Amino acid sequence: MDPVALVALAIMTVALAIAVGVAISRGRTLDGARDVVAAALPADASRPAGDDLSDDIGRLRRRADTAEFALAQRLRDLAYLADLVGVGIVRLTDDLRVEVANTAAHVFLGRAPGSMVGRTAIEALGDHRIEAVAIAAREAGSATDEVAPQGPDGPTLVVRARRSPILGIWLVLQDVAELRRLQRIRAEFVDNLSHELRTPITTIGLLTETLARDAEQAGEAVPARMRDRIGKLEVETGNIAQMVSELLDLARIESGGPQLLLDDVDLGRVVAESVERLRPFAERQGIELRTTIEPGLPRVRGEAGRLGQVITNLVHNAVKFSQSGGEVEAGVRADGGSVVAWVTDHGIGIEPADQPRIFERFYKADRTRTGGGGTGLGLAIVRHIVECHGGAIGVASEPGAGSTFTVTLLAEGPTP
Ligand code: ADP
Repeated sequence: MDPVALVALAIMTVALAIAVGVAISRGRTLDGARDVVAAALPADASRPAGDDLSDDIGRLRRRADTAEFALAQRLRDLAYLADLVGVGIVRLTDDLRVEVANTAAHVFLGRAPGSMVGRTAIEALGDHRIEAVAIAAREAGSATDEVAPQGPDGPTLVVRARRSPILGIWLVLQDVAELRRLQRIRAEFVDNLSHELRTPITTIGLLTETLARDAEQAGEAVPARMRDRIGKLEVETGNIAQMVSELLDLARIESGGPQLLLDDVDLGRVVAESVERLRPFAERQGIELRTTIEPGLPRVRGEAGRLGQVITNLVHNAVKFSQSGGEVEAGVRADGGSVVAWVTDHGIGIEPADQPRIFERFYKADRTRTGGGGTGLGLAIVRHIVECHGGAIGVASEPGAGSTFTVTLLAEGPTP
């Protein structure tokens, strides 16, 4: 055969093969599309047989439009709700660009409406501390801080950041300026009141003490009933004086001042000294005090005086709530990266329902048992001091068997 005719025949054969292939694959694609549409649309007996594919696509498009409309409505509802609760919400991408920001976020950060989306975190948020919270959450999963980005006259924002389980970071901004103002007023009120009460109470205390001494010296000249009443007066005056002093202390700690004078503290020594201070009191109650201090403990960062106040309070309670003849043990041990101080008694114990509440102000587990002794403020002060040190306090107790209080602080510095 002529070579030219041969080449022409080959070209025609290849062209025919391509045409057949395309036709087959197009057919398959169309069949596939028809299957998808059929799966998306519910079986409809009234549908005429052999209905055209374009009808299915049209129906599918209308359905998608309806779904899109409903989704947009939902998103509008969510945005409205987010603004209604007065909380700022910002979503950042992983490379710290604002993707979503509601109206409250714009108001809290002093930004023009709608100006934050698309900007970098620092441009949009305008405060490196808020950006730092977002970065910390991206690394650690979550982070929180309190900032006043527009100065003392603007909102005080608690910024909570969480890394999204999918992508990006969510920031929630809550204005707590009013709450902080009210807390300041309350603390100032308690502080002023305690100061005002202190002087007359001290005078009454001294006078009652003198009265009690005089009555004692006068012997039978003062009727026993009167001596008894003077004794009660002295006890109650002591309780009021203690309550006022504890209220003052709590108000000061809660208002954030004075700052702790931080040092590397030997917690073992703090516990040993606190126990020694309370030994005479424990002996009067018929309680034996013991200490178990692990050797070579790392130091903790804190203020020795305040930590001593914590341990003294716990040991004092342990003695107070034990029966005469009992034993109270206090100690310190290392636990991983922490140092744990503990106080154990075998006294009356605390009901499970009361255990989480005993750290609240004025809460007493059983008023009839504790009577007038104690203000119910001691453990509230203890918890504040421990938390100011970045530590945690816990209790394990069984009614009738006793209690163990633990104070856990981060280990720091060299061993003493
Ligand atoms: P209080 O001045 O009444 O001791 P606290 O704040 O120190 O106030 O303690 C609150 C309450 O917790 C106490 O009134 C008591 O009911 C309970 N509690 C504290 N420590 C103990 C303990 N070691 N054993 C039993 N109950 C305790």
